[in-house]
Amino acid sequence: MTFQNEEMRYEQLFRVTAKFHSTMDIDAVLEEVIHTLQDVYPSFSYTLFLAHDNTNHNVIPIKEIQHNVNGENPAVMQAFVTGFVQIEDRIAEKQSVLYAPLKGRQGIYGVLQINAHNAIIFPKSEIQFIELLANTAGNAFENAQLYQQSKQLIADLQLINDTSHRLNSNLRLTETMTFMSSQIKNSFGAMEVGFFMYSKDSLEVLLGSTPFFENGEGEEFVTFSLRKILKEKEPLFISDLHSDATFQNAIYRSMMSVPMVQGNEIIGVAIVLHESPYYFSFDKFKLLQSLIHHSSLAISNSILREELEKLVITDYLTKLYSRNHLEDMVQLSMETDAYGTFILVDIDDFKGINDTYGHQVGDEAIVQIANLIKDNIRDDDIGARWGGEELAIYLPRVDMQTGYAIAERLVERVATYSNPKITISCGIATWNKENKETFQSLFHRADNALYRAKQSGKNQVIASENRVC
Ligand code: GH3
Ligand code: MG
Ligand code: MG
Repeated sequence: MTFQNEEMRYEQLFRVTAKFHSTMDIDAVLEEVIHTLQDVYPSFSYTLFLAHDNTNHNVIPIKEIQHNVNGENPAVMQAFVTGFVQIEDRIAEKQSVLYAPLKGRQGIYGVLQINAHNAIIFPKSEIQFIELLANTAGNAFENAQLYQQSKQLIADLQLINDTSHRLNSNLRLTETMTFMSSQIKNSFGAMEVGFFMYSKDSLEVLLGSTPFFENGEGEEFVTFSLRKILKEKEPLFISDLHSDATFQNAIYRSMMSVPMVQGNEIIGVAIVLHESPYYFSFDKFKLLQSLIHHSSLAISNSILREELEKLVITDYLTKLYSRNHLEDMVQLSMETDAYGTFILVDIDDFKGINDTYGHQVGDEAIVQIANLIKDNIRDDDIGARWGGEELAIYLPRVDMQTGYAIAERLVERVATYSNPKITISCGIATWNKENKETFQSLFHRADNALYRAKQSGKNQVIASENRVC
């Protein structure tokens, strides 16, 4: 066998190195290395052994390095572990085999096996050249890996940055959580995402959670996570839930659960699921922790703000809307709708109820009527506590006839279902676009009608004089 001269060989080495510097594509570099070797030593055969996370290349036969004792060839392992070229002179087979580690600065990425057929002893002069080529491939792996890692780091930082940015822009809670949820689904490949707020031993699912969590199907994942997190004060990273007896038949097998912490308190938990075991990498787990850590404060602020807003528009006793809110809604409706109906409700002889049963029972009676009102109107309608034992209802886009029927039905139901037995009187007034009217005037008409209902025996509905149906 004749070998090419030194000069030519180094020209080829130069070609490989040039390729190596011009691309981040490992396949291209490997291909160049192998082609060069095939050029230089056309009679040799080549096998590439790669560490398992590098095997997705299609250059020449690639095998995964077996880390067990029964692995196919101890020399491969030896080269991989020590980083030194190994040579086997198989005298009986009349061939010599060389194992060159693919070495970078930080690690070894595989082993190139070269079978020199018909050569009993591997030519020493060639070893250095092959080593150089193998190291070029090793460096290419390393560069590509570092490049991938830095790209991933940049993407991770960008995700955290984007999320923090969006969360700080004072979104509504629903928008905040929907955004978080979609970030996690996209960046983590999650199949289910759930957010839960935890206070006073109760858990509340937040909007933005996937339906699996929203409709309670994911309950056992949630209680399991919370229990563990409260006990161990650590986030949970479970590669295969099937290894736990409780989850032997669970549809989801990979789970990450990260507590939302404020100050030193656990205020909630975020849960991410996937059906495949070992789906999430440890890096993703760390990223999720970072993401939740950065967003917990914004989430709890959104929740507090929303609660405050609700408090302002809700009556504490009846949980009906406040009078202010009803007024705002009528104003809005007068700007956008064609007509609407306002009903003023007053409990009949309520002083008597208080006197007979006490204030406490009086309060409960108001709540009973409030609940009957809620049951009798649609979501768009506004039931409000007007003040004391007076309540009010605003029905946008409802005319007098329909409004009257609704009020009558309410009067009947209160008389039928209240306990202790009470009755109510209603005054009702309708506005429409043709007769431009202020809310003040609408209210006065309803109030007058109510006064007439009281005058004419109570337990009835009277419509405003201007628009009797
Ligand atoms: P009418 O049939 O004419 O409405 O007679 P009434 O006894 O209901 O008289 P009015 O509406 O003028 O008085 C309402 C009473 O309801 C006065 C007050 O003591 C009582 N009241 C007002 N707000 C509350 C409340 O929040 N809780 C309780 N328990 N009582 C209230
Ligand atoms: Mg009253
Ligand atoms: Mg009254």
